[in-house]
Amino acid sequence: MSEGAPEIPIVCPACDTRTRIPFPEVEETVARHNEELHDGRSVASVDPDVFDQLADYVAADLGLLEES
Ligand SMILES: [Zn+2]
Repeated sequence: MSEGAPEIPIVCPACDTRTRIPFPEVEETVARHNEELHDGRSVASVDPDVFDQLADYVAADLGLLEES
């Protein structure tokens, strides 16, 4: 990944938080947030609306769709 990597909206309903994270850091950031704040539960996640759009060109590539 180089400059121009898309920033991905992350939402955490429990924290009422919405933030944007450069794509390459999304998985690690979400995992860390959930581990530190939510005992490892999958509370924070990529905004579902955006996730659908991204799925077309990145998610399949990076394995984001393989969860569970
Ligand atoms: Zn949270």
